[in-house]
Amino acid sequence: MSNYLFDTLTAFVPDLDKVFLKTPDEFALSYRDMFARSAQYAGALQKIGIKPGDRVAVQVEKTPEALMLYFATLRAGAVFVPLNPAYTVAEITTFIGDAEPAVFVCDPSRADALAGAAQKEGAKLHTLDGAGEGSLSAAADQMPTEYENRPREADDLAAILYTSGTTGRSKGAMLSHENLASNAQTTSKYWRFTEDDVLLHVLPIFHAHGLFVATHSLMIAGGSLLFLGKFDLEHVIEQLPTATAMMGVPTFYTRMLADERFTKTLAAHMRVFISGSAPLSAEVHNAFSDRTGQAILERYGMTETSMITSNPYEGERRPGTVGFPLPGVGVRIVDERTGREVPQGGVGIVEVKGPNVFQGYWRMFEKTAQEFRTDGYFITGDMARVDEDGYISIVGRAKDLIISGGFNVYPAEVEAVLDNLPEIAESAVIGTPHPDFGEGVVAVIALKPGLSLNEDTIFSALRDRLAKFKQPKKLHVVEALPRNTMGKIQKKTLRDRYWNEFS
Ligand code: AMP
Repeated sequence: MSNYLFDTLTAFVPDLDKVFLKTPDEFALSYRDMFARSAQYAGALQKIGIKPGDRVAVQVEKTPEALMLYFATLRAGAVFVPLNPAYTVAEITTFIGDAEPAVFVCDPSRADALAGAAQKEGAKLHTLDGAGEGSLSAAADQMPTEYENRPREADDLAAILYTSGTTGRSKGAMLSHENLASNAQTTSKYWRFTEDDVLLHVLPIFHAHGLFVATHSLMIAGGSLLFLGKFDLEHVIEQLPTATAMMGVPTFYTRMLADERFTKTLAAHMRVFISGSAPLSAEVHNAFSDRTGQAILERYGMTETSMITSNPYEGERRPGTVGFPLPGVGVRIVDERTGREVPQGGVGIVEVKGPNVFQGYWRMFEKTAQEFRTDGYFITGDMARVDEDGYISIVGRAKDLIISGGFNVYPAEVEAVLDNLPEIAESAVIGTPHPDFGEGVVAVIALKPGLSLNEDTIFSALRDRLAKFKQPKKLHVVEALPRNTMGKIQKKTLRDRYWNEFS
């Protein structure tokens, strides 16, 4: 019987003895082991009473066992709900209340604190720790290594991922088997993954980037994962010479560049470095090319849509852009008010349609309806511009747009100018209430190690490069910009911090 996503992901297995996943400490799972261990977890889930369509909510550390639990959930026909281990007990209680899972799996250290919340929603509580041990793995140990996958169709739900919620309440994005399968096929082919690839997997697996993009693109091609618990510079430097590909958020690449051991020779075995989840500055892109002779391949996507655009595998990977729409993905850039496409070079909201676009927000019917156009396009909330060659640049989230004195200021444009100045490591530009202009532009910057800043120099450098209304009226120097685990700058935190700047 067919299980749409799992069957798609495993349609091509070159050899059952081939390494599916290995870790730096010599642990390895062959494809045969992956089938067997995920069968055991699927058996355990079924024995617990999980039925197709039930939610399996999981807040655990990144381990090979946790990945097996994801596959097991698919095979058992259930819906995987991964949760960031950093979430507090209070946050998890909210998610459990919203998702109403049939089972909740957490670290043993949290079991007592969360038992009440699980019980209230009728969820069974199981544990899995950072070593891959706990009540669920013990239950799996008792199960057969064969499992008859539960049938699932293209439209059935495979996962619900709570969006990172950098603003407002987190929403559960419902992703179907087809949403994930179609994107896996597209990205794997576009980025030329084959069975010879070894992907350095350093991203978390509670987020779409690490769980879907990295894992699916590789396994659908029959490649291997070099699985690290997290991004750890020492391990990355040690492991790079044995890998062929890496996916990361921009901060990973900044941290690699800051280490002198990261050289052209060290990167010589690598076929491709892919970046996404947050903007990669042109400076970092160029510095990376200078150091390694390899251009980072930047792509753009979001939890709700999986991957939307990508720079080309062959051909120019243009710094500061996210490339072109992926095959089969409809992208248009429209004026927010009129809903009409903006002329080439203009800025508008990115809208997306295709088999990759999610099924809506879990139990938020009205919110879902608001975010789709009547012709089926999803309104991403990202603002972008297309250059004369068709390369798309993300200029920021619509809600981060600053309107100062009636003029639109796109933070990314000001940030790009700031980042280009020699003293500045990174910057974030926000708008806060201003008595005359409505909003005033505020720049928050972090300096390069050992460098100091002359404010006048910065302001005069900006005078030549930006129209007056775009120039920051205030400048703040901070040690580091606030970021979440996916490397996204928390602009809301900055807006709150500098809210009374002009009052
Ligand atoms: P998430 O749902 O956590 O993956 O976040 C998706 C959001 O991250 C998008 O809506 C964009 O705002 C941002 N994002 C992802 N990739 C890029 C990129 N390459 N450049 C700029 N922003 C990006």
